Amino acid sequence: MMSSETTVQNYQVLLNEKKLCVAECTSCHTLMFPPRLHCISCYKRGTKWKELSGRGKIRSFTVIHIASSTHAEDAPFVVAIVGLKEGPSVTARLVGVDPEKPEDIKIGTSVVADFEEVTNNSSDQPIMRLVFHPYLVHK
Ligand SMILES: [Zn+2]
Repeated sequence: MMSSETTVQNYQVLLNEKKLCVAECTSCHTLMFPPRLHCISCYKRGTKWKELSGRGKIRSFTVIHIASSTHAEDAPFVVAIVGLKEGPSVTARLVGVDPEKPEDIKIGTSVVADFEEVTNNSSDQPIMRLVFHPYLVHK
């Protein structure tokens, strides 16, 4: 499966195996998220999956109070932009924090990727959702 094309659809397949992967250019090794087939740096076609450590730091975050219908029952929840240790940024939910106390969430906090099983997708098949939680907090 790691040899599959670096498409968003295959990203979800890898996520379902609890693997956080980004696209890596086979020419210049630029890492890209969301995954793509062409390099954003050297513009060549040719990418492969690279599994990342899941470690990163909070670059920014927001508290979602009014969510889309598929996420409404989860609100309020926190969405963060996480700068991954390997370079790319990803946007995902931040768990293990109190959305009612955003003043306690600090930019630069170390976080680690985790995976939550969700079933609120159109196919009703459970899928994994990428989330992050503060690295020092034990679940
Ligand atoms: Zn490249």
